[in-house]
Amino acid sequence: MDQDCPSWSALPLVLRDPIPMTSHGQYTAPLIDLHQNSARAMPTPAHRLGRLITAPATVISIRALRAHCSKCSIRELCLPVGLEPEALRQLDAVVTDRIGLKKGDTLYRSGEPFTALYAIRLGSCKTTVLAEDARAQVSGYHMLGDLLGLDGIAHERHACDAVALEDSEVCVLPFRKLEGLARSVPALQRNLHRFLSRELIRDQALLLLLGTMPAEERLAAFLVNLAERYRERGYSSSAFMLRMSRDEIGSYLGLKLETVSRLFSRLRERGLLEVRGRSVRLLDLPALKQLAKRN
Ligand code: SF4
Repeated sequence: MDQDCPSWSALPLVLRDPIPMTSHGQYTAPLIDLHQNSARAMPTPAHRLGRLITAPATVISIRALRAHCSKCSIRELCLPVGLEPEALRQLDAVVTDRIGLKKGDTLYRSGEPFTALYAIRLGSCKTTVLAEDARAQVSGYHMLGDLLGLDGIAHERHACDAVALEDSEVCVLPFRKLEGLARSVPALQRNLHRFLSRELIRDQALLLLLGTMPAEERLAAFLVNLAERYRERGYSSSAFMLRMSRDEIGSYLGLKLETVSRLFSRLRERGLLEVRGRSVRLLDLPALKQLAKRN
């Protein structure tokens, strides 16, 4: 990872077998339409998993798909990174369900009992917390390979909502089982600690950004961070889709919608990027990095 870059992602991970994306930002790998082709459709998986999902989502058995961590194309980005085959086999026994989410589906809500972590296998999600004025404030942006649900470990209740930003797929890692396995597999425990630490570093970086950076630097830091995270996942770091709307980006960066739109225009006029709808091309990443650390 570029040490000069104010990045929220902590782990320099290598994707050996990346899932390719088209120029429109769509995955070309089998993003299964779980609502249509599910192995086992369940209109209310909440009853089974102790959570709420706003729209009909789908829980499928990973066994049915014969798609385990050991065969997963993103395992080097995910919790099993670096595990020995025997440990991978044991983890396969823990990760038994996968949930398909449509854009806008809520995976879990703040206050719900915490039972599991969720590994994003496809797509991306945002986490939100309720601000004082009862508006949902975006507190995190999570993409494939990230773990959701770490917020629930401390009090055994979730501290935020997790919502799919696009059609996505998450693996369910029941926490008690995972914790038990981590006790006997030190490498897995280390990975869990690393993911927790990464979240802490991201939160601290976000606090720093919100507390000290002027608006333009915030947006530049956000874009540079996205570029880094896409690069770590084997995608282009210069052309990608923004999965959050301008409004959501504003909420995440503590900026008004108009300010975000104005800043995108300003960066475009300065030749630093091109933007078409949600499609962004970074034309001068070094200049954006300079801007992000100007403060
Ligand atoms: S938890 Fe899911 S996404 Fe992560 S490596 Fe295993 S199968 Fe892949």
